Amino acid sequence: MRAAILRLAGAGALAGGALAGGALACGPGGESAPESRAATVGFCSNVPRSQYADLERLDVADDWFEVYRVAPRVYAIYEPFQFQEVISYLILGEEGALLLDTGMGIGRIRSVVDELTALPVTVLNSHTHMDHVGGNAEFERVLAMDTEFTRTRARGRTNAEARAEVAATALCRPLPAGITEDNYHTPAFEISAFIDDGHRIDLGGRTLEVLAVPGHTPDAIALLDREAGFLWTGDSFYEGPIWLFAPETELEAYRSSVARLAELVPELTTLFTGHNTPVAQPSRLLELHDAVEAMFDGIAVGNRLRDGGVEFVFEGFSIMVGPDPR
Ligand SMILES: [Zn+2]
Repeated sequence: MRAAILRLAGAGALAGGALAGGALACGPGGESAPESRAATVGFCSNVPRSQYADLERLDVADDWFEVYRVAPRVYAIYEPFQFQEVISYLILGEEGALLLDTGMGIGRIRSVVDELTALPVTVLNSHTHMDHVGGNAEFERVLAMDTEFTRTRARGRTNAEARAEVAATALCRPLPAGITEDNYHTPAFEISAFIDDGHRIDLGGRTLEVLAVPGHTPDAIALLDREAGFLWTGDSFYEGPIWLFAPETELEAYRSSVARLAELVPELTTLFTGHNTPVAQPSRLLELHDAVEAMFDGIAVGNRLRDGGVEFVFEGFSIMVGPDPR
């Protein structure tokens, strides 16, 4: 194990091999677990997280968002007051801009993007979980991976499916005007064009390459700026509890995708991640690879969660799987 620290096994701790063998039973893990996540990260007393103090912050009118310049012509658009602490990225070229993810759809991300650039903006999602597509409908051009999961999620999420995201326990401050627990939902969005692994997006002076990294969801991607050595990991890696318990998560696919990402590390200078803190060291992907392999090999020891899932804790991140992983 490289730099991965395993939490000591207590009562109810499980070796990962049992997971790989499908030995655990129970109901399916849900997509949202606001209270447990908020409790996990000690969220309200901790935002914005300390890393942000080292980043250059830009003023924007809508104070639901915090915007940070994380590299030349790359902005992290952070939503610190909702427990997901999701981060979207605006990446500028000379002729166009790519918006990687559109956040919760609680604040209006379009107005933030319009303050930052006058370039034509294309939206692409790191994956189509609701915390990453909330503002998609505010944009005219949306690229999407060509999967059934993506098509389904483009129909949006109803208030019943989404309302837990804006419950009082999920928030650190009041909702913006017009959004309530009773009307919040994820609007459906139109897909302008489908893309696939290897698709290249030329923004003028900056080319981004789409890497299919299924696992967290079937449509998960990473985005690579080969020249700069930047990799946007979406939810395949971030510093925090990595959720791998949704019904659409496929652990074997995730394992292969993590191996693929780890191979890129020698070419990389910086990771930009989907939650909590935007900037991470590329070597984190080697630690993640070791962690996932340890989980599959049964070396890593996990802690049983209240809902029957299991959390494998490593240094700086953890992996949370459901009661019935696949
Ligand atoms: Zn997410």
